[in-house]
Order: sequence, then structure tokens, then C-alpha cells
Amino acid sequence: MIQCVMASASTQTQYPQVRLSPEDAAAPWAGSLLEKGRQGAARAAARLGLECDDPVTLVSFSSEAKFREHLGVRPIEIVAVTVADKGEIVILQPALFGLSEREQIQVLTHEMAHFIVARRVKGELPAWIHEGLAMLAAEEYEREDSWRVSLAAATGKMISLARLDTQVAMGGSAQELAYAESLSATRFLINENWAEASRGGKDPAPLARALADAKEGVAWHARLWDPDYRDRLQSRWVHSLRTFGRWISILSGSGILWSAITLLFLLAYWRKRRMKQIAQKQMEKEEAEYPEIVEPWTSEPEGWEEEE
Ligand SMILES: [Zn+2]
Repeated sequence: MIQCVMASASTQTQYPQVRLSPEDAAAPWAGSLLEKGRQGAARAAARLGLECDDPVTLVSFSSEAKFREHLGVRPIEIVAVTVADKGEIVILQPALFGLSEREQIQVLTHEMAHFIVARRVKGELPAWIHEGLAMLAAEEYEREDSWRVSLAAATGKMISLARLDTQVAMGGSAQELAYAESLSATRFLINENWAEASRGGKDPAPLARALADAKEGVAWHARLWDPDYRDRLQSRWVHSLRTFGRWISILSGSGILWSAITLLFLLAYWRKRRMKQIAQKQMEKEEAEYPEIVEPWTSEPEGWEEEE
């Protein structure tokens, strides 16, 4: 098989050399999977601003049982999992192929970002930063769900950064919040340090480059694993979530604001209808109770209608 190692025209950044497992290379989706993998790799490297031309193999499985058996663990993220030291991105076929092409490339960009960060950054990173960088690389801003994070901040239901240091994929109802918090905290950290360069914390490159830098990276690792630094970062971040603007985003983002407006309209309508019904009933009741009170000057002459 001829491997075509050609740089994508859209970017100068070196990106991981994408390969397929023998089974995938023989499958009908070989060409399209390889192409999507390359697009994801190029996109992730460009977004992170990190070059990496290590080989990475896409390995896909048709069932969750085979997927799990290959990984040796029960994955909670069930579309794809990156095993950086083995140089593999393990994919669950029905989960990935069920997505639109754009979403498939987004998933592969996310996984490629995990791979590049794992290869280029020395030493272990807090799990929330790894996840935040991958989500920013894949431009999964919608996963921030700012209302979810703001609501958790306002009600004291947040998952602490100390917990997110070791685990993001925690399963159950906490998982979505864990991802949303990881993205939110990573953006906060980037924005705090590189406000102008990062377009409001949307660009992961300044942080990724600092972490991968031989000198700066060591300083950042020491800082990020220092419990005092982490707790102070957490309190600044949580404080930033408790502003008036955030409350508006909770209300509008969650649909609570619109639900409240709709409810008010419904109440007004229902009240009006109810008042009309009461008035009608009252009139009927009065008519029944006092049949004699019929204003004589408004009643029709008897027999008037029968003639028609
Ligand atoms: Zn991830």
C-alpha cells in the first residue's frame, strides 16, 4: 500500500501520520475514514499550534463488546478513545458512523488533540485541562453549557477541580457537568493569561504551546499541580461565574426565561377566559334566580320571532 505523506494545502503545521488497522484498511470505509482522520489530525495540530508527526493508527470495532475487549476497560466516552502510548485511536463504528461527516471530523479532531497533547507535553496534565484543550481544538464550544456550569456555581453543586484533576469521564449525570466545567475552567485559565491572544479563551494554542515548551512547561506543571494555586484558580473562576451576565445566560440558555414569559402569557390568557366564564355563570345564575328581573323595555314583543 502506498502511503501518501503529503502536507495539506490548508496548513503548514506538521500533523500526525494517520494509518488504519489492517481490518479497517480492507473495509469499504477505508478511504473515507483515512481522509477524515487526516483532516482531524491537521485541524488539531493547527488549532493547538503544536507540530507532531508521530504515527497514529485508527482501529475501529463493530460492537461495544469488541471495543471494550480491545481497550481492556469499560470506556465511558463511547465514540472513540485515544490510547496515546500505543499510538491508537480506538473507534466504535456504530457510534462514529452514525454521526454526520462534520461531527465525525470533530470527534477525530478531539481525539487527535488528546494524542498530540499527550505526545508533546511532558508529564501528566490535570484531566480537566487535557479535556478542555481537546474540546477547544475541536471547537466544541456548545459543550460548555454555560447555564449548567453557572447553575452549579450558583447552587454550590460544582465538581471541584481537585476531583477533575484525575477524572473527567465519570459517567452518569455528573459526566456532562464534568465536561462543561473542564471547558469552562480551561477557557478561564487561558483568558486569564492570554486574554488578547486567545480570543476570549477560545484559542487553545497559547496554553498548549506553553505546556509543551521545555522551560515554561515545567513551571506550568508545578503551578497546576500545586493545590494552593488550583484552589485559588477555582475560586477566581467560580467568582467569574456568579455575575449578573451569567445569570442572564442561565435563564436564557436553559429556556427558563422563555418558559417564564410563556407562562405569564398563558396565565394572563387563562385569567381572562376564567373571568369571562365567571361573569357568564353569574349572569346565568342571576337570570335563573330572578327570572322576573327582565328589563321590560329590552324584551322583544311576544310572538315577534315566531312569525319569521
Ligand atoms: Zn476527550
